Amino acid sequence: MSKQFNLLMLAGDGIGPEVMAEVSRFIDWLSSNREISFDVDEALVGGCSIDADGVPVTDATMEKAMAADAVLLGAVGGPKWADVEFAIRPEAGLLRLRKDMELFANLRPAICFEALTDASSLKPEVVGGLDIMIVRELTGGVYFGEPRGITDLPNGQRRGVNTQVYDTEEIRRVARVAFDLAKKRGNKVHSSEKCNVMESGLLWREEVQWVHDNEFADVELEHILADNCAMQLVRWPKQFDVIVTDNLFGDMLSDEAAMLTGSLGMLPSASLGAADAGGKSKALYEPVHGSAPDIAGQGIANPIATLLSFGMALRYSFDCPEEADQLDKAVETVLAEGLRTADIAKDGETAVSTQEMGRAIVEAMAG
Ligand code: NAD
Repeated sequence: MSKQFNLLMLAGDGIGPEVMAEVSRFIDWLSSNREISFDVDEALVGGCSIDADGVPVTDATMEKAMAADAVLLGAVGGPKWADVEFAIRPEAGLLRLRKDMELFANLRPAICFEALTDASSLKPEVVGGLDIMIVRELTGGVYFGEPRGITDLPNGQRRGVNTQVYDTEEIRRVARVAFDLAKKRGNKVHSSEKCNVMESGLLWREEVQWVHDNEFADVELEHILADNCAMQLVRWPKQFDVIVTDNLFGDMLSDEAAMLTGSLGMLPSASLGAADAGGKSKALYEPVHGSAPDIAGQGIANPIATLLSFGMALRYSFDCPEEADQLDKAVETVLAEGLRTADIAKDGETAVSTQEMGRAIVEAMAG
């Protein structure tokens, strides 16, 4: 039976529209060659939305996002909007999407493709075959906690304040996502915080342990301080399977894990909300990289991170694991054949364009 899904595509700024075009190419191929079709809608987010509507995301776009089976986002931001008011900067559009859709679990795989082991700054034996999933809490913690702000002090100095705050259920629900994923992978979770210096970290450790003991006792759990986790990630990353951590530490640890694999242009992500009664979660998929203003408009951006983000949508929102596996294989095939965009090419290697890479991956799907 044919599957039909609603997808909202938010290409955004900079290289966003360029890499998103390759997903459209892939969707066209799927529609013609598989029993899956997509009702695709498009809208603005980030700087282009500020230019058109004065805000980084409109209420109308938010409504579309809430109604879609999944949202795929390119990237937001760039120097053009560096001076806009803080509250309506391009990134505020992204934060509103994450917050209003209640996307509390950010999944960032760090996979080292065999053909790219030498693109990493670490030794091939350290990263070869690496496959880690970092689960970052995305809607709480210090990025959202109150009080926050900059105030003037009577002594003429200024004070900047942000608040790290977590409640029981915020921790338990993201821990469940991590344990659930681990069961389908290596059955091991590392939970990372700083309980040695932060009470919120102590609560984090206790609540993750509670979820483990009461609901996932068959999954291996280790607690690790965030600074040690950062160190272990570069020392011997293959000791990890799933890492679950808060918003702030997750931001850093996932970027660090990202670079183990060589290039930002290769890294997908998914942000998921709670499942509804029918088991469906709101979901936003996006590459980890930004709008790359330094290369925007040149047609040389690597589209793989965005294609793999769509692959995660196939897996987690569209229940099409076979097509997701096939896409992973197609990426592996073109890399093994030596195809490289500039960001992953070695000195002296000829780089292909965004479109050439996208076309080759679709051709590899056809087998
Ligand atoms: P960036 O990720 O845009 O770029 C960092 C470097 O990686 C650049 O040299 C860029 O050319 C390269 N790069 C990134 N993606 C690539 C790709 N697909 N192919 C080839 N090379 C790629 O980060 P930045 O330069 O720090 O930020 C640029 C803008 O993007 C800023 O406005 C920032 O706020 C925004 N940003 C947005 C997001 C997002 O939309 N989720 C994330 C990070 C940064």
